[in-house]
Amino acid sequence: MRIDVATLFPEMCEGVLSESILGRARKNDCLSIQCWNIRDYTLDKHRRVDDVPYGGGRGMVMQADPIYRCYEAVCAQTGTKPHRIYMSPKGAVLTQQRALELSAMPHIFILCGHYEGVDQRILDEIIDEEISIGDYVLTGGELPAMVLIDTVARMLPGVLPESQCFEDESHFGGLLEYPQYTRPAVWHDKEVPPVLLTGHHKNIADWRFAQSLEVTKIQRPDLYTRYLDKK
Ligand code: SAM
Repeated sequence: MRIDVATLFPEMCEGVLSESILGRARKNDCLSIQCWNIRDYTLDKHRRVDDVPYGGGRGMVMQADPIYRCYEAVCAQTGTKPHRIYMSPKGAVLTQQRALELSAMPHIFILCGHYEGVDQRILDEIIDEEISIGDYVLTGGELPAMVLIDTVARMLPGVLPESQCFEDESHFGGLLEYPQYTRPAVWHDKEVPPVLLTGHHKNIADWRFAQSLEVTKIQRPDLYTRYLDKK
């Protein structure tokens, strides 16, 4: 899979994308990511990429043309038409299911806004979908883009040791994960649930499923109801 990120702050993204599992996935060619500096595509001699909003009001709006020229450069380099996403608090809130669908796409282009956002006309012209990472506003689209890339990348073949690693986790099957424990077996007088020490795989799996149901019911009744409705 290839992901191109258009941003005014590529260094901010590169730091995150070079570390840990994402960094390894890129080195192992499971995932190819390139960050593009939108400022490199402005025709303004002062390298301006934003201007005041028409109609008045505070702040600055990112101009359409540098973004469009940046997007054209991505298409020229890759020779493909990517699926185009704008990170936006106005978008549909990201879910595990949507991330799974995106992980099956060969090429994604992500636009990160900043300041008051971007000129609506570039969204109308090139964007396929707007994605939000939650009902709150951040300074820029870079952190949301990193969140999206991280959750998509860990479901790509070869990134985690096996698909069960993410299939067993919270949200994939509609439930939250069961509680996890590690050594020592007793800590601060608190014991690990005895079933986990038996080595009996079926009993452990049954206990974990029951715990998943319980945790979801208590912590996310909305997910619990949805899970039961689907069954
Ligand atoms: N004026 C915009 C509004 O009220 O909808 C908010 C602009 S925000 C300060 C700047 C940029 O951060 C946005 O263009 C978007 O790319 C990104 N952003 C902020 N919150 C986000 C969220 N919850 N999810 C995804 N992107 C977000």
